[in-house]
Amino acid sequence: MNVEAQYSEKADGYIRCHICPHECKIKPGKLGLCRGRKNENDTLWAINYGETTSIALDPIEKKPLYHFFPGSQIVSIACNSCNMRCPFCQNWEISQEEVKTQFISPEILVKIFKEHTSIGIAYTYTEPLMWYEYIIDAGELIHKEGGKNVLVSNGLINEDPLMNILPLIDAVNIDLKTTNADIYKNTLKGDLDTVKRTIEIAHAHCHVEITNLLVTGLNDKKRDIDALVDYVAAIDTHIPVHFSRYYPNYRYDKPPTPEKKLYYAFEKAKEKLKYVYLGNIPSDDGANTYCPACQALLIERMYYRAMTKGLKANQCKKCGEKINVVV
Ligand code: SF4
Repeated sequence: MNVEAQYSEKADGYIRCHICPHECKIKPGKLGLCRGRKNENDTLWAINYGETTSIALDPIEKKPLYHFFPGSQIVSIACNSCNMRCPFCQNWEISQEEVKTQFISPEILVKIFKEHTSIGIAYTYTEPLMWYEYIIDAGELIHKEGGKNVLVSNGLINEDPLMNILPLIDAVNIDLKTTNADIYKNTLKGDLDTVKRTIEIAHAHCHVEITNLLVTGLNDKKRDIDALVDYVAAIDTHIPVHFSRYYPNYRYDKPPTPEKKLYYAFEKAKEKLKYVYLGNIPSDDGANTYCPACQALLIERMYYRAMTKGLKANQCKKCGEKINVVV
């Protein structure tokens, strides 16, 4: 199903899309860089509206969101679009290639949500902000039914469309790949300043967690890690940060991230941030949540299962410290 794309502007011989900083100039019959928008009959269409590559019921911890209804499950759904070109993409089969999709209307999505024990819908796996019109429509219906809307996003969106969609979003995990602007621009086809702005604006509107995939030879030097930690700490030391291990995928074949680099990031970040986690690598300490004041175990996690042991609402049971957790 096609719906007219928002944030588009007709010009002489093309239509410009203003959703993200690529600002694609799309000629008749052509697609934007994300493959989700097409110029046809002098109109820009969101051709991926409701077209779904994947749908699953996931633990919220898998997003990863460790501080948003821990231990809950969430219906997770993806489109077939992305506006970045990370050569190590861990989901490239559905983000970078054309695959068969199934249409799921917003009304059917609500039905699926209600049929499962789910806190809401996570728009994830590829780049959900390229599913803009669909998330607006589905997100409104999900909110009306008392559900939550969650994004797992690269954060590459212009400010106006971001501000317009945020009232529908309850939590977001933003993938901050590096604080090196050259890597963002030349290797990933993104824009660091835009992603930073998205993090800062989203933090003022909803629950935010950050993931950093440490990729061998790309962003895993000590100075890369230190700069990323300093950036997050300057916004808010309570933002949970997940360092995740890379494995060879798509067009990137360097070996998996050395474990010592993940442990360096973990220890370094804990000096400045209150909640730091390790992903894609077995680690008790890197999976559990501890009270930043008294070190009591608050949430124990094992294989995406979370047991809330030391929390009373959003406070540490032992010392009363207020914890940045939505329950
Ligand atoms: S949303 Fe897609 S079409 Fe629009 S500017 Fe971004 S990449 Fe281009």
